[in-house]
Amino acid sequence: MSIKSLLICILMFCNLLFSGALTAKWFEDSQAIMGTNIHVELWSDSPQQGQGAIQMVMDEMRRIDQAMSPYIESSELSLLNKHAAKDYVAVSKELFDLIVLSVELAKETGGAFDITFASVGYLYNYRAHLKPQQSQITDLLKAVNFRHLRFDSHKNRIFFAHPNVKIDLGGIAKGHAVDNAIELLRKSGIKHALVTAGGDTKLLGDRLGKPWMVGIRDPRNQHKQSVVLPLANTGLSTSGDYERYFEQDGKRYHHILSPKTGESAYEVQSVSIIGNRSTLNDALSTAVFVLGVQKGMDLLNRTPGYDGIIVDNQRKLHYSNTLVE
Ligand code: ADP
Ligand code: MG
Repeated sequence: MSIKSLLICILMFCNLLFSGALTAKWFEDSQAIMGTNIHVELWSDSPQQGQGAIQMVMDEMRRIDQAMSPYIESSELSLLNKHAAKDYVAVSKELFDLIVLSVELAKETGGAFDITFASVGYLYNYRAHLKPQQSQITDLLKAVNFRHLRFDSHKNRIFFAHPNVKIDLGGIAKGHAVDNAIELLRKSGIKHALVTAGGDTKLLGDRLGKPWMVGIRDPRNQHKQSVVLPLANTGLSTSGDYERYFEQDGKRYHHILSPKTGESAYEVQSVSIIGNRSTLNDALSTAVFVLGVQKGMDLLNRTPGYDGIIVDNQRKLHYSNTLVE
């Protein structure tokens, strides 16, 4: 190779390097989907890839919302709730697997996480400040029990063995959506990304050599953080009594219900779970919220790979064992 052609090659290489470096940047977007705020940040070499990747995440969120929202009459979840007390209803493999996992988690959490909370749960309307009468709660509590769910795993069919059963995936679907979104990004070649759906966040890689700084907000002051954690390649989900609630007669009626009482759980103000799978972080944050400090920490300390931070109702912070070791 002549010196001239070598020089040309080097020049072309530099040009390629620079053009990549010049167009590589952070892309971000926020949209209201799944009744919450979806936020995406990612690093990409080109605007086409960057914007395409964000679009892909938002499309995935919309797809899951269409299938799993209780507010969309045609969703698979709504159809299941409408018909499964009469006969077995066939659902997609994705929904079937998520409901089976939810029941496994109900067993592991002693029923603290139970998607059948919804027969009572649907009587609350936090926006309209409506809560059920005690007699209505007592009546429907009989339907709150994951053991009422029957599965036909050959045909992905589900049956509710009690006439009043309703299920709701509000405590696990956003974690599932965030796991899916990060997996799609990883497969498309993205190396650094953050995806948040409400209280569920997952990180792909780090923030270009530095960790992502993810905050746990002060449950009583939305402008303050209680804790900020440096994280990479993992997930963090927070459940709080400030997300959806109203106050009446000095009491806070919020969206995390104890399946035993059909009322909001009061022992803590927020629970954050750190672990690789956001689907589990999401469900565990709800479960630990219901269980309270002692039983919640016991659960986390016997669950490898999943750590937690609790803000109790006196605003005191509690950390699971591996975070303080
Ligand atoms: P969000 O991110 O919406 O704040 P959380 O992870 O805190 O969600 O879960 C709260 C949601 O979980 C509620 O809105 C409701 O849909 C559902 N949920 C409430 N109580 C329970 C429970 N005991 N078991 C399972 N799901 C629940
Ligand atoms: Mg949750």
